[in-house]
Amino acid sequence: MSAWAAAEPAKVRAVAGLRSIVQRLRPKPRPIPDAHWRAALRATPYARAQPLQERQRLRALTAQFLRAKTFEPAAGIAITEAMRVCIALRACVPILHLGLDYYSGWSAIVLYPGDFRVRDTYMDEAGVEHHEIQDLCGQSMARGPMVLSWETIRAENPARGQDLVVHECAHKLDALNGAPDGFPPLHPDMQPREWGRAFRAAYDRLRSEVDAGRGTRLDPYAAADPAEFFAVLSETFFTAPQLVYRDFPAVYDQLRLFYRQDPYGVIPTARRP
Ligand SMILES: [Zn+2]
Repeated sequence: MSAWAAAEPAKVRAVAGLRSIVQRLRPKPRPIPDAHWRAALRATPYARAQPLQERQRLRALTAQFLRAKTFEPAAGIAITEAMRVCIALRACVPILHLGLDYYSGWSAIVLYPGDFRVRDTYMDEAGVEHHEIQDLCGQSMARGPMVLSWETIRAENPARGQDLVVHECAHKLDALNGAPDGFPPLHPDMQPREWGRAFRAAYDRLRSEVDAGRGTRLDPYAAADPAEFFAVLSETFFTAPQLVYRDFPAVYDQLRLFYRQDPYGVIPTARRP
C-alpha cells in the first residue's frame, strides 16, 4: 500500500496528560547566554526574521531542548556551546507551536565533523536482500539518535531551502506514529484525507518531473520516497517557504496546519506579492 493511502489517527494527545506531569518535574533549563543566542540567530536567518515574541518563545524552547537532549561528538569533533545552541535553535523551529513532547522517545544528537559512513541492508520488492555502504550527512533512527554532519550544517544555504537539522527533525515527527512514510500524526482538527490528497498529488508531480529530467525548484531528493518528500518540504517550508507555496499550495496549507506556523510572509525573502 502506498503512503498517504490510508488515514492515520493522531496518537500524540493520548499521553499528553502524563507528559505534562513529567514536564513539571523536570529541572528548570539553564538560560542561553546572549552571545550564543545572537550568533545562532545570525546563522539562522529564518529564525531571526520571526517577530520578537516568537523569538522569545523560541529561546525558551531552545533552552528546554538543550536541557532534554545530549550531544555526542563523533570522529574527533569538538562540540562547542555555540554549536549546540545553533543546532538546538534550528531543531526547535518546527516544534515552536507543537512543544518539546513532539521530540520524545529519543535523546541523543550525534555530531560528526563531516559525512559519515553507514552500512544498510534492505529487501527489494522481489525479496532480494541488498547490502549497501552509504555516505550520509544526516540520519534519524527510529527512537534512536539523530546523526548530523557539522560540515553540511555550516555549508548549506537556508535561503535556498536547505536545512539539515529541520530535515532530520521532520523525520522524527514522521516517526511518531510508526515508520516514516510522510504521514505524521495529524491534529484532531485536520483531515487525513486532505493531507493524503495534497501530498500524493504533489509527490507524483515532482516524481514525474524528476523522471523526465526537468529542472525543479525543489530539491529533487524529495522525489526519493514519501518520507523524504515530507522531510524536504518541511525543510523548505521553514527556510524558503515561497518555493512550497508557489509550486504546491495545497501542501503548504497542510504543513501550515500541522506545524501551526505560516512562514510565508514572515521571512523577508518570502514575502507575499
Ligand atoms: Zn531524509
